[in-house]
Amino acid sequence: MLVECGLFQGTKANRLRNWEPFPVRPESVHAVVLTHAHVDHCGALPALVRAGFRGPVFATRGTAELARIVLPDSGRLQEEDASEANRGGWSKHAPALPLYTEADAFAAVEQIEPVEFGKDLDVAPGVRARFTHAGHILGAASLTLTLDGAQERRIGFSGDLGRTAHPLLRSPAPAPAADWMLVESTYGDRSHDDAHVLDALADAVSATARRGGVVVIPAFAVDRTELVLFQLRALEAAGRIPRLPVFVDSPMALAALRVYRRALAEGWDEVEPALRGRDEMLDPGELHEVREPRESRALCEAAGPFIVISASGMATGGRVLHHLAERLPDPRNSILLVGYQVPGTRGHRLLAGERAVKMLGRYVPVRAEVRDLSAFSVHADADELVAWLASAPTPPRIAFAVHGEPEGAAVLAARIDRELGFPGVVPKHGEVVRL
Ligand SMILES: [Zn+2]
Repeated sequence: MLVECGLFQGTKANRLRNWEPFPVRPESVHAVVLTHAHVDHCGALPALVRAGFRGPVFATRGTAELARIVLPDSGRLQEEDASEANRGGWSKHAPALPLYTEADAFAAVEQIEPVEFGKDLDVAPGVRARFTHAGHILGAASLTLTLDGAQERRIGFSGDLGRTAHPLLRSPAPAPAADWMLVESTYGDRSHDDAHVLDALADAVSATARRGGVVVIPAFAVDRTELVLFQLRALEAAGRIPRLPVFVDSPMALAALRVYRRALAEGWDEVEPALRGRDEMLDPGELHEVREPRESRALCEAAGPFIVISASGMATGGRVLHHLAERLPDPRNSILLVGYQVPGTRGHRLLAGERAVKMLGRYVPVRAEVRDLSAFSVHADADELVAWLASAPTPPRIAFAVHGEPEGAAVLAARIDRELGFPGVVPKHGEVVRL
């Protein structure tokens, strides 16, 4: 069984790991279980299928639908990277090959079998799985695997845990009873400043509008775009920001937005009950969907004030680069970073206050206002992670802090030791643990 099959992101050293052979033979894996559709959790699935994996991939309906959008897009990006490397002649391999293609991704998503929340399901010989709400993005689940044997053994996986404050989704379910627990630690050493995040958004939008500038919001295409649209609508309705044109300039974000609208309209299980049947809540007054590259280019030249939301969320690629290259040099504009920025990404450089950032082959001076709105994150912060672990009906024997930077994971593991009375451990990459 494989739980998650993600791509490494961020620094080059991390990204190179995507090219290492799988640690087990892909054809020997019975099944894959995915907690959600972010590429760091499902993005290597097409490579696994291409390398010979033929089994089922179990995921909730939301994850299945979003993976059908996210994975082919990732395949297209891999192909573009390879052809760029070939044009630039800077690859060590001639010709450079993509990690996988769009066609590989379309083949891989055929193996996904949608499952329901809250039901036990046989996923492999002697292994049962149960998906519970993680409140992180549409479809996101925590997972309990129960292994048959002389003595039943249970392994819990937080997946990426959302926030109790997520306005569109139900709060994460309590942690399951498990003998071993794997808990994410993205914000393992930090806490979110919720009280001020909406004020900061309202402030930034209003001030930029007064200057006649453009607000650029690099946003993860899935979920963050919806969250930002929802909050802009709410601020607009409360009269806290002027009614401005809002452009969503990302084909993937628009495809995901359609899935979210449908989830709200149809009242999917994980949707916040108060929003069921109310898909209009994702539409600020003057919403424009930008599809064609030609429209995107025209938007780069248009005069403000307006708001543009575009991917990718850490400015590592995508159409947002053109908006940033155009808007960063002008102090009337503002750039709002609404999510976690991995060290090594352009988003992280902007956050660190670098005066010039390289993109599209040139250095772009940073004169626009850059604001950190990371409390918009759809990741639980340290207190929420600890509270989630404490909510399990019985404590695990041990909790492994995974999926974070080394500092975040170490700080969280130490807090688990100190505050929860069971050991917190940071496993090493590739470490094997006998149950
Ligand atoms: Zn995630």
